[in-house]
Amino acid sequence: MYVVYVILCRCGAFYIGKTKRTLVERVREHMASIRSGRSCPRLIDHVRSRHGGNSTCLSFAGLETVVESLRGEDRHKRLLQRDNTYKRDGSAWT
Ligand SMILES: [Zn+2]
Repeated sequence: MYVVYVILCRCGAFYIGKTKRTLVERVREHMASIRSGRSCPRLIDHVRSRHGGNSTCLSFAGLETVVESLRGEDRHKRLLQRDNTYKRDGSAWT
C-alpha cells in the first residue's frame, strides 16, 4: 500500500510524493531533512532560498492510498500517471 501525499507551501508551490510507510513517518523524515540539510534537495533549496529556511511555510496532506494490487512495472507506471495528473493541475515545485 502506498500513500500519495502533497507538501504544500504557502507561496503556492507544491510537491507530490509517495511513501510505503505512514504519512506521519514520512513527514517527520522531510522535516528532519530540512533541518539537517540531507536528502530532499528540491524541498530544502526551496525552503532556504524562498523562505529563509523556515519550514513553517509547509503543510502536508495525504491525497490517496493506493492499494498494491498491480505488479511491478504496471504499478510504477500507474503511480507516475497519478503524479502527472496532480502536477498538471498546479504549478510545479520550484
Ligand atoms: Zn514556498
